[in-house]
Amino acid sequence: MHLTTNQILTLTSPAVALLFSLGFVFAWNYGRRRARYLLFLAAAFSVYALAMASQILFIPPNAGANTLVSGALYLISLFLLFRGIARRYRVPFDGMFYGLASIATLLALAYFYYAQWNLLARIYILNFSVAGMVLLSVFRIRRISRGIPIDRTFFWIYLLFGISFVPRTILSITKAASAGSTIGTSPYWIVMQITLLLFMVVLAMVLLAGAMLDIISELQHDRNIDDLTKLHNRRSFEEQGRREIQRCRNESICLVLCDLDHFKSINDTYGHHAGDTVLAECGNIIRRCIRKNDIAGRFGGEEFVVLMPNTTLVGAARFADRVREELAAADFPAMSVGQPVTASFGVAELLPGETLSGLFRRADSMLYTAKNGGRNRVVFDRAGIGLAHDPEDMSDIVPLRT
Ligand code: GH3
Ligand code: MG
Ligand code: MG
Repeated sequence: MHLTTNQILTLTSPAVALLFSLGFVFAWNYGRRRARYLLFLAAAFSVYALAMASQILFIPPNAGANTLVSGALYLISLFLLFRGIARRYRVPFDGMFYGLASIATLLALAYFYYAQWNLLARIYILNFSVAGMVLLSVFRIRRISRGIPIDRTFFWIYLLFGISFVPRTILSITKAASAGSTIGTSPYWIVMQITLLLFMVVLAMVLLAGAMLDIISELQHDRNIDDLTKLHNRRSFEEQGRREIQRCRNESICLVLCDLDHFKSINDTYGHHAGDTVLAECGNIIRRCIRKNDIAGRFGGEEFVVLMPNTTLVGAARFADRVREELAAADFPAMSVGQPVTASFGVAELLPGETLSGLFRRADSMLYTAKNGGRNRVVFDRAGIGLAHDPEDMSDIVPLRT
């Protein structure tokens, strides 16, 4: 096939679209193949490349067939793009509407080619129908215009992309185009190609950047969060805990340590899996009971830890006791009915100038006391009481039941 210089230059667009398509596949693969929307975007960009190639290389060579084939490919590529975007932002996908609108558009294109030849009508129909569909897709994701910066950026570029079909079409329609001179050199064609290329590049880059940010935050989540209990792992807890202690030097901050009682015997009697369900449920209870600023972690096998900023010793002891009660009342299908799971708690309040490990040591020694005192109880460090509370206040809060 002999290609003109113009054709070779305009083939840059489909080549770039193909590269982005590959980029989406790489991002999907790199993100452990979880983000399926990236495959829809990859397919959208590949079909878009095909659509452009079909027009530029004039395949199929019959003008009417070429108009319909390339038109159909453009519409399929948009359909895939809308599908991917709806999936990415978890909004309803108006597939039926897009499908019917695309068929109607193709029928209208065929009519204005075969029944009543009119290039201008075809240009208007294709572009306005595309604009309408893109704007519906933009409308669906409108809530992201108030989201994180990368989503906001995408929203406004996507909106601009949808709107751009209208002025672009009106401004670039010339007498030459409507008179039917070769479309490959008309201003309409050139303006269309350049602006579409620009939008394609910017939209694809923003979508790829969004996918990369998702991957980074998923990796961070995997690195910091314990799979079984969905709480911070030890390293992440210590990192965040130190930062929190630095941040609120002047407010009361407490640490609660929790250790399940006789957990080894649960494992020995009911099996490791039953033990795991107890750990997971304990994680659920702690997550349910903490406040937004509390930092909860799984410190070791069956040991949990919660750092509670802006909390008095009374408040922290109340929290520990609530967790203790909820755990004792929880049902575990894997274990015999009526067999409660209990835990012991040690609570301490940060002393002036103390570090996280100092605070931890004091809470741990309270936990040790709770274990020795018969388990299933909360013991707090009285060193903290002198700071802000009357010891009398505490008597009803921390029941020392056996
Ligand atoms: P105590 O009341 O004194 O705390 O006794 P305990 O049996 O709870 O304490 P011990 O330290 O003797 O045993 C802890 C057990 O926790 C031993 C270990 O096999 C189990 N364990 C640690 N990590 C996991 C885990 O991820 N899953 C399960 N099922 N068990 C675990
Ligand atoms: Mg232990
Ligand atoms: Mg234990």
